[in-house]
Amino acid sequence: MIVSSVGKFVDIFEEKIAEYTGSNFAVATTNGTSALHISLLLSDVSLGDEVITQPLTFIATCNAISYCGANPIFIDVDKETMGLSPDSLNYFLSENAVIKNNQCFNKTTGKIIKACVPMHTFGHSCRISEIKEICDKYKIILIEDAAESLGSFYNGKHTGTFGSLGVLSFNGNKIITGGGGGCIITDNEALAKKAKHLTTTAKVPHKWEYTHDMIGYNYRMPNLNAALLTSQLENLKSFLSSKRNIALAYKEFFKDKPYIFIEEPVNSQSNYWLNAIIFKDKEERDSFLHETNSKGVMTRPMWTLINKLSMFKDTQCDNLDNARWFADRVVNLPSSPIIHS
Ligand SMILES: *Cc1c(COP(=O)(O)O)cnc(C)c1O
Repeated sequence: MIVSSVGKFVDIFEEKIAEYTGSNFAVATTNGTSALHISLLLSDVSLGDEVITQPLTFIATCNAISYCGANPIFIDVDKETMGLSPDSLNYFLSENAVIKNNQCFNKTTGKIIKACVPMHTFGHSCRISEIKEICDKYKIILIEDAAESLGSFYNGKHTGTFGSLGVLSFNGNKIITGGGGGCIITDNEALAKKAKHLTTTAKVPHKWEYTHDMIGYNYRMPNLNAALLTSQLENLKSFLSSKRNIALAYKEFFKDKPYIFIEEPVNSQSNYWLNAIIFKDKEERDSFLHETNSKGVMTRPMWTLINKLSMFKDTQCDNLDNARWFADRVVNLPSSPIIHS
């Protein structure tokens, strides 16, 4: 459903994304980071608040939290999904949270834990239903960073549609791209309207007058990007089947080798955006990275854990055993649909 008119292709693209993901509304933005920023603002995340997320993610998740003047709290990921662990989340909250006036307070810092942003790593769904239950119980707003998971489903429901807001990215490396772009998906009409308002300089609709009723942002997706994305979206099915074929070929290739190929978790259907294998230890992983890169095969480690970066070094952390385990052992493999398997 269209919230307001900012260009023909923007409207068309928003309608098609809403339809594909099964969400009532979609609001296109300049990129995934701006979509995250706006989603946090719509969740009333502000100066001094806290937002739970995973340390094993792309930096954009945490940058967006910082743009709001809020601080992240890092909770461990699951061994099965590489996404936020509901078990660790539940344990952390049972030890550290107290609910007062319908809000969740962190007993250690005295701050409000306003939101939780799990991420569907490499397009593999995290255990999002369990995470949602815990967030509901603790009065924490759930925002899904589904930047990597367009085309991924959990129990038949598209990722990004479990929380009150979900975020998609169409950056050049994502499963579909318009050169750049992002999107907020939600079932809540008021949130969708406010998202459109905030991303379009908060201009009050009028035929000729320029009046703005709050500090807004120029996060509107350009019509040109939307035109490209509309045509990319038509190819999504074929991209998804190429991705799955590449994953199957890797799975077959690695089946009698001493590495674990990461497959889609139970109850889910992954878009296999980025394939990955797990090594026995960091030493073996690093020698594989050296060998492949020196032979011109582009392999990469996962992100440096965000809690290790100087800007986030003082962040409150849960026990991050699984996150560290992955960060030392995972290698990403070339996964573009144009590679020949
Ligand atoms: C790509 C990505 C983003 C940000 O998207 P941009 O469009 O590049 O701003 C956010 N979170 C995750 C996990 C991503 O992979």
